[in-house]
Amino acid sequence: MAILEAHPAIDPQKLDKLAEVAVHVGLNLQEGQDLVLTAPLEAMPLVRRIAAVAYRAGAGLVTPLVNDEQVVLARFAHGNDASFDRAANWLFSGMAEAYDNNAARMNISGENPGLLAGQDPEKIARIGKANSIAGRPAMERITGFNINWSIVAYPTVAWAKKVFPDVDEDTAVGQLAEAIFAASRVNAADPVAAWAEHDARLHARKDWMNQHNFQALHFKGPGTDLTVGLAEGHSWNGGSSMAKNGVACNPNIPTEEVFTTPHAQRVDGTVRASKPLVHQGTLIDGIEARFEAGRIVEVTCATGQDVFRKLIDTDEGAARLGEVALVPFRSPISDTGVLFFNTLFDENAACHIAQGQCYSECFVEGVSGDKEKMAAAGGNESLIHVDWMIGGPETEIDGIKADGTRVPVFRDGGWAA
Ligand code: ZN
Ligand code: ZN
Repeated sequence: MAILEAHPAIDPQKLDKLAEVAVHVGLNLQEGQDLVLTAPLEAMPLVRRIAAVAYRAGAGLVTPLVNDEQVVLARFAHGNDASFDRAANWLFSGMAEAYDNNAARMNISGENPGLLAGQDPEKIARIGKANSIAGRPAMERITGFNINWSIVAYPTVAWAKKVFPDVDEDTAVGQLAEAIFAASRVNAADPVAAWAEHDARLHARKDWMNQHNFQALHFKGPGTDLTVGLAEGHSWNGGSSMAKNGVACNPNIPTEEVFTTPHAQRVDGTVRASKPLVHQGTLIDGIEARFEAGRIVEVTCATGQDVFRKLIDTDEGAARLGEVALVPFRSPISDTGVLFFNTLFDENAACHIAQGQCYSECFVEGVSGDKEKMAAAGGNESLIHVDWMIGGPETEIDGIKADGTRVPVFRDGGWAA
């Protein structure tokens, strides 16, 4: 198999357009800027297209870093015990140095959601820990938006088979590719213009939420009657972000969410998940939780209950919320009707909340970035950040102001105004 060629079921012209969107919308790559690109081996057809578009846009140097799932599995099969605490510190230091020299960063997502199912959870956790410690210098520059960065997706075979298990490989890859193209808005006649329009809408939504400065949101839907208090000095985010190097980028292709920081101690009521969640290769479905003073005090799941309970037991903040996000039920992603088993897509198909760590950028200036001030304002801290979907066609949300006034925010699963 010629793995460096695009799978025949993937439309090559749409792949060209996805590369254009990645470089001009996702990164907004500037003339002379270097680009650090990470991708699964199978995504090389997209890597090469992105490199071509980047160089045409005047890129300095494009450096692709490729990972291979078979090499990962070889480590689990044959690696000695000490191998599981190793990480490529030199690589992450080099990336951090590249960002300090204004290199942009792109990641292509396409991992097999079930790759590590059946592997020793202890070893998975050790690798994860070693990587997050070694990766911290690079990660801090990304989450702090020192430079413009973005994530796009490529339809790999293993991922497609997981999403469409009942059809043959060609059909599965073709369907996943089309779903990615639709969700990434590459089917528009002028995708770059379509993204500019979409971005303006997201910015208008987040501005509207910021102007109202709600103290809490009240969610109602089947199995859900939940009041989510918002952190003091919270700020709504969505769409493109201005990086500290002065370049506006779209960190996620696709993105549909407008999101902010809940108050870690002010979430009360019951909530039912509207879609399953995949966490480290485990399917968690039918979550029903009750919150009291910000904390999950009762939870049952139809599937994966042990994993979910263990997850929210990770540390003190894991049973509390670090994000609340508004996503209309109707969007190019949810219209595909596909469960992607990939957070980049699934969290952009429905309103969601996240257990764990809050985002520094979801606070007003003066609070953002200051750990103590964020915690005092109600920002949650945890080692985890796991999103789960709670929105559906019947979701209603009211914004509640400090004086108790209620303003309709969502009706029938979409924006009220
Ligand atoms: Zn989110
Ligand atoms: Zn999230």
